[in-house]
Amino acid sequence: MENGFRNPSETTGKVITCKAAITWGPGEPFVIEEVRVDPPQKMEVRIKILFTSICHTDLSAWQGENEAQRAYPRILGHEASGIVESVGEGVMDIKKGDHVVPIFNGECGDCLYCKCEKTNMCERAGVNPFMTVMVNDGKSRFSCKEGKPIFHFLNTSTFSEYTVVESACVVKIDPDASLKTMTLLSCGVSTGVGAAWNIANVKAGSTVAIFGLGAVGLAVAEGARARGATKIIGVDINPNKFIKGRAMGITDTINPRDFEKPVHECIREMTGGGVDYSFECAGISEVLREAFLSTHEGWGLTVILGIHTSPKMLPLHPMELFTGRVIIASVFGGFKGKTQLPNFAKECMQGVVNLEDFITHELPFEKINEAFQLLIDGISVRCMLHL
Ligand code: NAD
Ligand code: ZN
Repeated sequence: MENGFRNPSETTGKVITCKAAITWGPGEPFVIEEVRVDPPQKMEVRIKILFTSICHTDLSAWQGENEAQRAYPRILGHEASGIVESVGEGVMDIKKGDHVVPIFNGECGDCLYCKCEKTNMCERAGVNPFMTVMVNDGKSRFSCKEGKPIFHFLNTSTFSEYTVVESACVVKIDPDASLKTMTLLSCGVSTGVGAAWNIANVKAGSTVAIFGLGAVGLAVAEGARARGATKIIGVDINPNKFIKGRAMGITDTINPRDFEKPVHECIREMTGGGVDYSFECAGISEVLREAFLSTHEGWGLTVILGIHTSPKMLPLHPMELFTGRVIIASVFGGFKGKTQLPNFAKECMQGVVNLEDFITHELPFEKINEAFQLLIDGISVRCMLHL
């Protein structure tokens, strides 16, 4: 209230009507529609999204690869940045006007997992691809103009001018940082760099193989390069990915289609027995097996980052683990988002990790279908949508 009159542009506590890209069914083109976004409830935050990009996980969800996860209508999107419009009751660490990135794997700070330093899982706000509503009341904060509820996605739903998320899924970012590049920390870059740093703990002078050179795989390369790995082998079936890869730390490249023999044999020959670390960033079972077999016997470590459709089992015989090779998976690069991401953001601002190179395309939000096609065709690494 100013001078006794309510500021008509004030949106706090009110339903906001804005544009969002709705998914109505598996693989159906996104439709930009007006939606109603409810105010944030207890421990929730409403964010004005300024940038959102497209990760392969959005692509898989849009295509409805995992049937159990199908839910429509839905607002997808989970890699984004924006400014806080308002906060719900009880939110102390975030306020209106803060520059933030939403995170799909939240950190409530209170649960058994958050209090354990060995994991970045969270009981209340951890990633859950089956979750389609808010924790508080089991309802959606989005609805169509006619009142039909629209489902949430991965704690974030960023293909919308405004979204409501758990405060556990909001990370405050230095206002001096470019929100456009910080968008990448919301998923792909944190996932890849974090896997190299927090999960594998790549050592200087070591050898690395990365399977799948999308944003996630290239982020692993950046992380491994920053740690001083000397040989970083990039494996992809799309040779166009090698150009970008070489600029981002990849020292050697393999296109599996150029060889008769399996990739792991090529890698073992190139490295005197196998790499110290391999990273699977494609979400393909056969690729995971190659990644596993390409590490050195005795100590090789494979990190799974790719999301694999169900029902799929590990493509290994248990006895193959008796070679001393280890396999592990990683969500969000092992980062505890709220406590560790602000520092990672600072490191990125100092140039430890180069973010600019990940953004290959920029388009207005309305061209979201075009942006998806760029990812499907293997042309873009990250296409930044401007809202
Ligand atoms: P992307 O589509 O940009 O990149 C995937 C790359 O894999 C492409 O370059 C493609 O050419 C390559 N590829 C496909 N088939 C291949 C094969 N047989 N051998 C080698 N390379 C092959 O995807 P992205 O956004 O970088 O995501 C990569 C994966 O990581 C996806 O499965 C995604 O769902 C997953 N992901 C996981 C997390 C996590 O927390 N674990 C977070 C984000 C994304
Ligand atoms: Zn993602």
